[in-house]
Parts: sequence; C-alpha cells; structure tokens
Amino acid sequence: MRIRILDDGVFITDAGDLFGGSRKMRIRGAMHAVLAEAGDDLVLIDAGFGPELPEALTGRYELRREKSLMDHLQEAGHAAEDVTHVILSHLDADHVGWALEPPSFPNATVYVQEDALKEARRMPAGDGRREAVPAVEGGVEEGWCELLSGNGEIVSGIRVEVRSGHSAGHQIVWIGSGENVALFTADLAPAKIWLDTDLISGVDTDPEAARRNRIEVLEETESRGATVILYHEPGDFLVNIRRTQKGFEAVPVKG
Ligand SMILES: [Zn+2]
Repeated sequence: MRIRILDDGVFITDAGDLFGGSRKMRIRGAMHAVLAEAGDDLVLIDAGFGPELPEALTGRYELRREKSLMDHLQEAGHAAEDVTHVILSHLDADHVGWALEPPSFPNATVYVQEDALKEARRMPAGDGRREAVPAVEGGVEEGWCELLSGNGEIVSGIRVEVRSGHSAGHQIVWIGSGENVALFTADLAPAKIWLDTDLISGVDTDPEAARRNRIEVLEETESRGATVILYHEPGDFLVNIRRTQKGFEAVPVKG
C-alpha cells in the first residue's frame, strides 16, 4: 500500500474559530488529505475545502492555495474517476469539500458515520455541518454515499474507528498493519498543539470525550509505533508520538 498526501491549501482564521472564546490571534491550518493506493482501490481520506471557501465561512476564514487537492491528485497520476472510496472523518466544511457538493469523484462511494449525520441535522442553519446534510442525504438516496454505524474495514488494510468528541461519530482511520501502520487522526488531534493534553477546545461537541479519546489514541500510536498524519498541521505533519511528563511530543518522520 502506498500513501500520498494531497494538500488542499492553507486557511487562516481567528484562533477563536478553532478553540472557542475570543482570542485575538490569527492561526494557520493546513489540509493534508490522504490518498491510499491499495491494490485496485484508491482511497481518499477527507477532502479539504473544495473548489472554493464555503459561503458559511466567508469573512471568518481566508483560503490560500496555489494548487488544490485535485491538482495534487492529478500530479500523483490519478484522475477523479480513479478514486473508489472516500472516507469523511466528520462533516465540517474543511473536511468534506471536494467529496460532497458537487461530488468530484464519480466512481467513489463516500463513507460517513450515521451519528455524524444525525448530529449535523440538529445544528443550526448556517453551521458547516448542517450545510453538508442535503448532499449526504442525496448521496445516500442516489447510492454513492454509505452510512456507517461504528468501526469497520473499508477496504483490506484500511479501518475506521469512531473516536467522538470533536463531533458525534467522528472517525479516525488506521492504514496498514503491523510495523507499517499509519493513523489519520483527523480533528481528534489535528495539529501538534493538540499534543498538549491540557488543551480543551470550545468548538468540540464534547470536549471531555475528545480529550479522553485523544489521550487513549495517542498512547496507542506510540505503543504501535504508528506514523501519525496531522491533517491541519502546517509544519511537520508526519510524526511519531512519544509520551512525555507533560503530555506528548511529536518526532518528525521523513516522508
Ligand atoms: Zn478540521
């Protein structure tokens, strides 16, 4: 199995949009979607912002990119038609962009946890998750979107695991096995700052569950020697995790 990272640019926003509260600090986030070439299957994990910044985020987010996820897909030697599976960690706009509206991968099945959809339906109008609901429901009706209820293997060697907190039904993705295992943490631990176990986010659905799951999962990645792919980390986004007295630290892995 071969893994590539398909960047979808960088966003800039106020820290309050990521952590809650009203911090006057600008913060940068990357979007490192994952492409796994697994035999005849081509699996995309999360899907960036899509063709343009979603309307709901205009004014609060700025998107900077020279090349998009689709440009990087092409550079990797693949067409949109080649993608067979798309796994969405959850329904926030910065994770579902290219997958849903309009769906960019005509031959792919898109996988969403049912709990994430249920939560999104309860969000207020204008919320990013709520905005994804019509596309997901349409996809289910048309047969290109499949709702999952819990952990499971999507293709041989690629397994989703529900670790909620950031959202209901938030799923992480284990890729490979044995000594060659990588973990896509999505927004459970999206960047190195989240290795500080005292950090609590005001924008998580259930911050305590997120924190508990984060600690458990990071410990597991250390014991398995897994390479962790940090979706929003603008610096070194492929890391190994080590327990420290204060929390965890990231050791960069040569990509
Ligand atoms: Zn995110």
